[in-house]
Amino acid sequence: MKIFDEIESKVQSYARAFPRVFHKARGEFLYDEEGNQYLDFLAGAGTLNYGHNNPLFKKRLLDYINDDGITHGLDMHTRAKGEFLESFNEKILKPRDMEYVVQFTGPTGTNAVEAAMKIARNVTGQHNIVTFTNGFHGVSLGSLAATGNSHHRDAAGITLSGTHRMPYDGYLGEDIDTTVYLDKVLTDSSSGINSPAAVIVETVQGEGGINIASFEWLYNLQAVCRKHGALLIVDDIQAGCGRTGDYFSFEAADIEPDIITLSKSLGGYGLPFAVVLMKPELDQWKPGEHNGTFRGNNLAFVAAKAAIDHYWSDSRFSSEIKRKGQYISKRLASIVKQYGGGRFTTHGRGMFRGIGCVNGELARTITRYAFRNRLIIETSGADDHVVKFLCPLTISDTNLKRGIDIVENAIQEVCAKEGPVPEKIDYFDGHRAVNA
Ligand SMILES: *Cc1c(COP(=O)(O)O)cnc(C)c1O
Repeated sequence: MKIFDEIESKVQSYARAFPRVFHKARGEFLYDEEGNQYLDFLAGAGTLNYGHNNPLFKKRLLDYINDDGITHGLDMHTRAKGEFLESFNEKILKPRDMEYVVQFTGPTGTNAVEAAMKIARNVTGQHNIVTFTNGFHGVSLGSLAATGNSHHRDAAGITLSGTHRMPYDGYLGEDIDTTVYLDKVLTDSSSGINSPAAVIVETVQGEGGINIASFEWLYNLQAVCRKHGALLIVDDIQAGCGRTGDYFSFEAADIEPDIITLSKSLGGYGLPFAVVLMKPELDQWKPGEHNGTFRGNNLAFVAAKAAIDHYWSDSRFSSEIKRKGQYISKRLASIVKQYGGGRFTTHGRGMFRGIGCVNGELARTITRYAFRNRLIIETSGADDHVVKFLCPLTISDTNLKRGIDIVENAIQEVCAKEGPVPEKIDYFDGHRAVNA
């Protein structure tokens, strides 16, 4: 369709990687205008954990719309919002012994991050926020200051401030615990690093290249935060809502963040929705201090409640994710072993996995080959050098296998053509590989 070239901004990105006009979707499949079927291993960058147009939520939404349920409600109390809160409290928070206040922010992830950083700064009276190498937290100015990627940062057009970057787990090699360095600089009044309001971290860095933090590192990070009076913010926007196997990505690490951000798959049906969870004593907002027109996306409340009720009332879904995660892990390990020869590494946890390639070009060649074979799969990382497996958590075993087979064939083909292994670039080393 020419219209996209004619009047849509050059800022488009995914549209360039997958140049088709898509028209329908169901479960783990997307269909283009010609009716071609594509297996979706991108899943809205982690927004479609429950698949496209999940029939369970669709029915709830259709009933709700038919009954003239409220669609937009600013932040007014609505039954849909109340019912979402009840389900979230009963099925997510209480069983995990988590006591948090829920703040509805604007419906994008970045707005939840903005709110989280604002409340942390206001409560502690400090402005500095510690962030990590390769972290991604969104592209509005506050979140962008916390984001590492220079492609995004360079577009700010203004000095990004108020953050200080530290090496993420594994950044300096497997054997170096970078929280020791953080502790050191926060202890030394001449380190040049201001006392932080908070530390913001992803337990698995999604856009940064599926880098995982070990549970031990997360535990140590929490201890350093506590010692220096910094709040711990876990940005669970991509890793949360089941992606790593548990509802929250940090459950297995046995930590208790002060603030948590959620978005992406929270709205269940792919509907925009974001929240900040904070310890009750941190909820020092004055009415309307952080506002936003779309904090009351009631259709998202309806779908989000349906998702929680259906998938998170017991531990079955979680076990399924872990089982499929093990399968993906095994397959990727065997692919890397067979074709590796220094070209590939595996990364990830649960159904949040990736194959790291020695350079971005190799990763892009693989994803392009996959797309020709009707698999939608993206890359992430500093040089887009990690092929990122992010299929819906609800995918069938058959289609999961099919998707991985397509990637394996792509890799086989690419390796057959390629000469010697290209030289490795430094920053691809170090990050931790596999964990559970
Ligand atoms: C996607 C993402 C964001 C930003 O969410 P948007 O809805 O794109 O603003 C923030 N943090 C993490 C970890 C993300 O993956």
